[in-house]
Amino acid sequence: VAPADSLLHALRAAVAATPERTFLAYFDARLDYREVDELSDGVAAHLAARGLERGDRVAVLLQNSPHFVLALLGAWKAGATVVPVNPMYKAGEVAHVLRDAEVSALVCSDRAWESYLRGTAADSPVRIVLTGCELDFQTRGDSRVLTFERLPQPPDTDDLVAVARQGGRAPGDRTPRPDDIALISYTSGTSGAPKGATNTHGNIMHNAERQRTGLALPDAPVYYALAPLFHITGMVCQLGACLNSAGTLVLAYRFDPGVVLEAFAEHRPHYTVGPSTAYMALAAHPDVTREHFTSFVNISSGGAPVPPALVERFRERFGPYIRVGYGLTECTAPCASVPPGLEAPVDPVSGTLSVGLPGADTVVRILDERGAEVPFGEQGEIVVRGPQVVPGYWRRPEATAETFPDGELRTGDIGFMDERGWLYVVDRKKDMINASGFKVWPREVEDVLYTHPAVREAAVVGVPDGYRGETVKAYISLRPGATTDPDELSVYCKERLAAYKYPRQVEILPDLPKTASGKILRRELRSRAHDDNDAGQ
Ligand code: ATP
Repeated sequence: VAPADSLLHALRAAVAATPERTFLAYFDARLDYREVDELSDGVAAHLAARGLERGDRVAVLLQNSPHFVLALLGAWKAGATVVPVNPMYKAGEVAHVLRDAEVSALVCSDRAWESYLRGTAADSPVRIVLTGCELDFQTRGDSRVLTFERLPQPPDTDDLVAVARQGGRAPGDRTPRPDDIALISYTSGTSGAPKGATNTHGNIMHNAERQRTGLALPDAPVYYALAPLFHITGMVCQLGACLNSAGTLVLAYRFDPGVVLEAFAEHRPHYTVGPSTAYMALAAHPDVTREHFTSFVNISSGGAPVPPALVERFRERFGPYIRVGYGLTECTAPCASVPPGLEAPVDPVSGTLSVGLPGADTVVRILDERGAEVPFGEQGEIVVRGPQVVPGYWRRPEATAETFPDGELRTGDIGFMDERGWLYVVDRKKDMINASGFKVWPREVEDVLYTHPAVREAAVVGVPDGYRGETVKAYISLRPGATTDPDELSVYCKERLAAYKYPRQVEILPDLPKTASGKILRRELRSRAHDDNDAGQ
């Protein structure tokens, strides 16, 4: 069966086949397929009545809640391109996105509007604002509690839920075509200023279809949204794949390990995908048991390196095997993954876990600096061609030409492929450390650190060093109750790595800084290391 042209086509099919099946579960609330369809029609009718035209941009700045899904589907039904915005962005970053994408409408929580977005949007093209009440976490005493406390409706906005409930008909002439831009996804900014990748409806459907057919889930599958929906992995591998298989999507605002475990027990999900840091946080929670994971047919991790030691430790303690996937915003989430029934091999030389096999219709090549293909096993830049690769960056012809020569994506990641076609990611090209003229890939050192029983999270960066040029520094957070010290960790690595690779400096922090999608921010740690270094001189 050919995939539908867009997720809206998939929605129509699901509404026709299973109108009363729960589509969205959010704490005590349930919305079935028919309700979501009608409510998103209401949003579309409102946007069109306010003058939104086909191709206009609608920014959605929300956590994982039904509001997000209603805004997204409503905007698509009105013919718009959606710009998902990370709710952790600071005012300046949001302002950059609103102006860069020339956004006409913004959907956000009333709290965010009141606290900083009104001022931010003031000198942007935004002229329609919808706000909704989202669930929020608040700290009371020592514990974090969930509240539905809502601020009064801001006077200069319309209420998202009221607009949705008003109903109405979505404009009839705006059905998306596969080449229309569905999303402008600003890359998460673990390096450099965010640029907007233009994911088409066809790009999204390719990967949503691949997830539907490739995961071997039962009928009426239950997905748990561990990754944020504003990030391409959450959008495509959770929401997109779920909608494309008429499944149920369990949403729980933002990541909180205790809330996630409760939801696993209640909803018994079949599938979830998240960064490896999320699995580490779940494994470290005092309430976690093996029982929490018995309903899963599959769990995946992508978007960041996955240490082999974590996968093994997780399987031993909880049962499931974490399937790794590799992807970028620029290829609409995964372009390689580990198919069900198989296990990713570990490279015997470097100890790196493979990130899977390239998907159907996808060609992954490894190129040297002159652009020639390297033999199996040799390292080079990973480049990807396939139906999930975006046509380019939003209004950035130079960056598009540089990153997508002839439509092929230059990932900026260094990797290699074995004779059987398994792909391995070594590291990001720009994160390489040059210690005494030797190349050190932080990832390799981190993988060793993760084999130490006390280590929960590890990130390795280069720090300027008068003698070596750069020296290796590791930042660590510890597992609950574990004790060790920087010297012990440094010696542990020294015993397992070449002399130029082991971290001569180790610092233990309570937690490592992460993006909202759970990736450890090496960039932030690098500037911290540089600052400490400067202060010490
Ligand atoms: P920016 O482009 O601003 O630096 P970002 O790279 O974090 O942000 P994403 O598109 O979310 O933006 O991430 C893609 C990157 O994540 C890849 O280029 C790669 O470096 C890394 N990555 C993704 N999956 C894996 C994996 N399985 N193993 C190792 N690295 C991965």
